[in-house]
Amino acid sequence: MTGLDSPGGSQPASAPRDVLGDPVPTGGPAAGGPATGGPAFDGHHPPAPELVADCVHCGFCLPTCPTYVLWGEEMDSPRGRIHLMKQGIDGEPLSDSMVEHFDRCLGCMSCVTACPSGVRYDRLIESTRQQVERRHRRSPRDRALRAAIFALFPYPRRLRLLRGPLRAYQGTGLRSLVTRSGLLPRLAPTLAALDSLAPRLRRPPRPPSRVPARGARRARVGMLTGCVQRAFFPDVNAATARILAAEGCEVVILPDRQGCCGALSVHNGREVEAQRFARRLIDAFADEELDYFVVNAAGCGSTLKEYGDLLRDDPRYAERAAAFAGRVRDLSEVLVELGPAARRHPLPVTVAYHDACHLAHAQGVRAQPRDLLRGIPGLELREIADPEICCGSAGIYNVLNPGPAAELGDRKARTVLATGADLLVTANPGCLMQVAASVARAGGDIALAHTAQVLDASLRGAPAESLLQGRAPS
Ligand code: SF4
Ligand code: SF4
Repeated sequence: MTGLDSPGGSQPASAPRDVLGDPVPTGGPAAGGPATGGPAFDGHHPPAPELVADCVHCGFCLPTCPTYVLWGEEMDSPRGRIHLMKQGIDGEPLSDSMVEHFDRCLGCMSCVTACPSGVRYDRLIESTRQQVERRHRRSPRDRALRAAIFALFPYPRRLRLLRGPLRAYQGTGLRSLVTRSGLLPRLAPTLAALDSLAPRLRRPPRPPSRVPARGARRARVGMLTGCVQRAFFPDVNAATARILAAEGCEVVILPDRQGCCGALSVHNGREVEAQRFARRLIDAFADEELDYFVVNAAGCGSTLKEYGDLLRDDPRYAERAAAFAGRVRDLSEVLVELGPAARRHPLPVTVAYHDACHLAHAQGVRAQPRDLLRGIPGLELREIADPEICCGSAGIYNVLNPGPAAELGDRKARTVLATGADLLVTANPGCLMQVAASVARAGGDIALAHTAQVLDASLRGAPAESLLQGRAPS
């Protein structure tokens, strides 16, 4: 039986269910329903008081927090949000205002990097979000939007089916019609940006199940195909598999078995749904002996590395999840760990590298992508100012909070364009879309590519022009 066959894992069939039919944990007095004046948090993994107590209120994190940078409000800073968590732990109810401040957090983890006291804000906000999803009743509009997002984004096949209608949406007067519907305009610009950036393929090619290593095998690796990446950026997955093979890795993909890794669900407090996706992915690769499990999307990688934590309460999966997580690497980490074997051909192009938050802050991977790019002869690498500030993508943040996301995107577009680079490179599909849309709004012109596509072009000896064709949608 797969995790999908059994949505709640070990939850009983009679457990309360959320809007998509998933059981919710039954850990506290108000679990499964809205808090009605009771304490903010139930007993199922509330934000840990000892982690809250690590914050010494020094404020070093404030200038790196995008929402504090935007509004200058204490309660929209990491320190302010930790203070609200403390209030909740002390028995305050979960007010609408508290939830609003938690919701405004991008989960970018810039504060984790900046904090000199090692405060694990990542763990704090994750448990807080789970409590909010269980105990706070959102407005009907918000619930409908979230239900639509989570019925669509974690399912690559459903995303793929949307490509035809999206082109119609972009190319005809349909856009003005749907504007009146209220919900779709929030989703459609993001989806339309996806489709603008995706290669014009009628049907994305099905990834192969296995790709043999070229030359002597140095490692055997699994590879995540992802949801958005698979449906809209199949070229990035193809480039990833080619690079790994060229560097001596046998690549195990098993596209028919793997689905969403659960990252979007984790980042939005949907614990049971995330656990269901995680169990399914672990099962999909259970029979394979792998040295590494390679991920080319920053948000997915950070979640996969935390599978041990996500499934820690599940006696059937806890050990397997921790072992699986221990093998997870970002593509750049694996390639740097293995060292270069294949020949790099010159690629005369100027590149601005954008740190995806879930790669730089959540995984601490900053040097490896830069090392890979610097290893390409003829490539000039330029740094973007204020690299620690999020571009506003943050998973589905730009759909749920389009205003602040656009402001952050505009700031990022200015700093990206100021580099004067020909090509913006990053390791996350969400960032690619967000920066593309922001650059287009600013009237700028820069090509966009994933790190894998740049290295792949160098290994294949492809001309720089092949990368410069992927431009921001106008
Ligand atoms: S995760 Fe990002 S947005 Fe949230 S508090 Fe930390 S720095 Fe601010
Ligand atoms: S989270 Fe860290 S940097 Fe921010 S106020 Fe607390 S101790 Fe200081």
